[in-house]
Amino acid sequence: MNSKDWPRVIVHADMDAFYASVEQLDDPHLVGQPLIIGPRSRRGVVLTASYEARKSGAKSAMPMAEALRRCPHAVVVPPRFERYQQQSEAIMRAFADFSPSVEALSLDEAFIDMTGALEIFGEPMQIGKQIQQAVLDATGGLQVSVGIASTKYVAKVASDFEKPNGLTIVPPHKAVQWLDPMPVSRLWGAGPKTVPRLQRLGLHTIGDVRRASPLFLRKSLGNMGAHFQSLANANDPRKVARRRVARSMGSDRTLLQDVTSTADIAHYLRRSADRIGRRLRDKGYRCFGVRVKLKTHDFRVMTRQVLLPAPTDSSDELYAVAFDILQQLRTPSEPSLKFRLVGLAAYDLVHEDDPVQLDFFSGDEFSGRDRSRSLEQALDEVTQRFGAGAVARAADLNRSSTVADTTPNLDFVADGLAMEVDPEHDPEHDPEHDYAHGQDYVPNEQEPSLPESDEFLDDWCFDTGSD
Ligand SMILES: [Mg+2]
Repeated sequence: MNSKDWPRVIVHADMDAFYASVEQLDDPHLVGQPLIIGPRSRRGVVLTASYEARKSGAKSAMPMAEALRRCPHAVVVPPRFERYQQQSEAIMRAFADFSPSVEALSLDEAFIDMTGALEIFGEPMQIGKQIQQAVLDATGGLQVSVGIASTKYVAKVASDFEKPNGLTIVPPHKAVQWLDPMPVSRLWGAGPKTVPRLQRLGLHTIGDVRRASPLFLRKSLGNMGAHFQSLANANDPRKVARRRVARSMGSDRTLLQDVTSTADIAHYLRRSADRIGRRLRDKGYRCFGVRVKLKTHDFRVMTRQVLLPAPTDSSDELYAVAFDILQQLRTPSEPSLKFRLVGLAAYDLVHEDDPVQLDFFSGDEFSGRDRSRSLEQALDEVTQRFGAGAVARAADLNRSSTVADTTPNLDFVADGLAMEVDPEHDPEHDPEHDYAHGQDYVPNEQEPSLPESDEFLDDWCFDTGSD
């Protein structure tokens, strides 16, 4: 085999039952046990099930109650996102030793472009084995499944083919033949709504889609038909984009009593902005995006976000933006709407050590913006020495007592967690980075990095406790 046979060499590497495997690695008592990572409360959802628990039918995104019904002896372990993130960074660093082009899709999954590297690392089989060994070494014992093909799409299907610890090589000239017998559910964008639709059209395998008449596909499926047929022909021109997973930090508070007035909501946003800003500065991050989330008393979720022209770690700026968003979210038609949850998140984080972003961290030392920032840094030091209650804002001192100060604090930043947003699960992600091609796509082997439901977020925060 030579590089002529491989116009491109695309690796897709995907950790096996990532969260569960990390727990089993860190606690040998859990090895071989059916393990469910998720909140202890039955109201939550499963984040990841170990392979032992999957045998009984427990799986990601399943309600906890259902998973425990299917697998009553499962050991439930609350997630430790900070640890997963730490391992993720080790994994991504290991990938970076193979190629400068690494595109992270989530904490535990990435494309690696190895085009032109066959002479350095050997044939695809050799490359795959080296990547598996590198991940094993970098993490202290975690397994990764690897698929190698000449397109992103085929590589991703291949990594899932022989999980766990799989290594599947699909040479370009065999890709179409290899895909043909696969069920249509393996097509990107064919999810629970689309698969039955394809089946009703008599399209059961990828080969059926490939052989169908383009006119028929267009008439019955529109543009989606051409898209599916292109994948079925193993055509996928997309390049591996150098990208790290977007990070976010957030704080969601479920209130003891519902609040109605803008001032009361703003009070919580102010406190969240303070915490998040402190956390950003402490960890050396700034954020490009600010998102506000409100949940009404009848559990409707309203979110809105903005992107800033330049990233910030200033609590004042976070708050100012959040307050603007809040005013946009308050509709005049429902002035007495009651809210039970107020959330604020900073996303699209950049780190000061990230060379690409250096410009944003220098140059405006004496601007008003940076003076406000040094004040905040001074306050951080006071807070660190004397505790969060040591500095109070004048506005807070005058607050009416309608807002309970004993509200359960559900901050996830308070736990020292910088949660990663999985671009495939983050509903607000940039559609250009979409590998799903539609709302319907649900990846098979993937752990959501963010809690799926608000109920879970509450549970999880309670479970792990704060501070
Ligand atoms: Mg995985």
